Amino acid sequence: MGAMETVQTYKSYKSGDIIMTQGEQGDCAYLIEEGQVEILIEKSDGSIERLATRGPGTVIGEMAIVDDAPRVATVQAVEDCKLLEISREDFNRRLDSADPVIKMIAQIILTRYRDMLVRASIFNDPDSVPTPEDLERKVVQQNNAGEMIKMANDFKIAIESNQLQLHYQPIIDFETTELKGFEALMRWKHPEQGMIPPGVFIPVAEDSGLIVQASRWALREACQALNRIQGQTGYDFDLTMSVNFSSTDFADENFLEQVYLILSETDIEPNRINLEITERLLMTQPDNAKETLSMCRQAGLGISIDDFGTGYSSLSYLHYYPIDTLKVDQTFVRNMRADDSARELVKSIIALGKNMQMKTIAEGVEDLEDAQILKEMGCDQSQGYYFSRPLPEHEIVDFVRDWDINPLKSSF
Ligand code: C2E
Ligand code: CA
Ligand code: CA
Repeated sequence: MGAMETVQTYKSYKSGDIIMTQGEQGDCAYLIEEGQVEILIEKSDGSIERLATRGPGTVIGEMAIVDDAPRVATVQAVEDCKLLEISREDFNRRLDSADPVIKMIAQIILTRYRDMLVRASIFNDPDSVPTPEDLERKVVQQNNAGEMIKMANDFKIAIESNQLQLHYQPIIDFETTELKGFEALMRWKHPEQGMIPPGVFIPVAEDSGLIVQASRWALREACQALNRIQGQTGYDFDLTMSVNFSSTDFADENFLEQVYLILSETDIEPNRINLEITERLLMTQPDNAKETLSMCRQAGLGISIDDFGTGYSSLSYLHYYPIDTLKVDQTFVRNMRADDSARELVKSIIALGKNMQMKTIAEGVEDLEDAQILKEMGCDQSQGYYFSRPLPEHEIVDFVRDWDINPLKSSF
């Protein structure tokens, strides 16, 4: 993926031309270079309200590139206009390289701006108006905005000052009962607040773009730990390591280069590393994700779909991307015994995996009965509290050393 260039596209409109239409999906904003435009809102009763006019040096249509939402207003040229197009792609690229705090503030301001429009009830499309729950969530988010910015700042310090750690959760092969490897899970030990769970800090790291730096750290640390664990335990098989990545990581132009660099620096064979990504990532990054993933796969890395079954109903993407492992989401595993439809879903995912020559890993296996049911269904591998919680490195070394005499090994 070479560095992408910024292409400047100008559009010309004659007086009276409609530049964008309320309710339509847009994928760019415009900077007005010449001419005047009028912003019109169609209200829910069908009447048209003239909101404002805009002239050279102002931006229109900015919400569409920030949150993918439909146009909130119609914009009409009232003079001949020359507009500079700012595509969503270009905007995201610029935002990604911005300072993380600036980035977060930009997002918060834009969220508030949109809510203000929503509160003023100027949408005419009922489908685009958030539910009261959405609004409440937004309000909570806004009240937390200061905290989020502080957390993003603290997280930046955390990466630089070794407050991040990885814990490792074993992955066990159902058939052979061997230990295959681990999933690396990030932990943040905040100096004042103690352990902060990944469910709290990962979204902040993603929104601020700091996740890119954190993931890089995690991959390097996980590879180094894999060397140490293998060395200290003398385990017979080459153990593997799964590392989680988010869509922000994939949007980073240097992603591949960094992965290759870390693998060669740590001297880890690519086939010992699995990249865990969610379905959502594939849906939001369809263009460059395929290229990036294909190159990873060609280099020998494993590609696992995390939380499989929770994201999207369309399965066609499974053919399209070079995926080799499906991780059955833990909510299905958890509900499998009480809920027949969850059980059927788990069965179908395992069958789907088999049909497509993909490995299946069940997550959230909490007891012997879960393990037995899944093994019976033909699931390949298992991960969950039944075998072990995620453990710090020194404890995982003991776990690996003792696996052969661990009573769990012969229990399922
Ligand atoms: P995930 O990738 O789905 O990871 C599995 C989560 O399930 C982990 O939570 C793990 O501790 C938990 N878990 C494992 N076995 C069981 C079980 O038997 N029962 C139950 N109830 N839970 C189990 P954790 O460590 O809190 O991580 C939560 C999420 O945070 C992860 O979900 C992942 O989405 C994200 N995350 C963690 N580390 C990283 C990272 O390094 N990078 C990125 N991008 N995301 C991460
Ligand atoms: Ca995962
Ligand atoms: Ca998962």
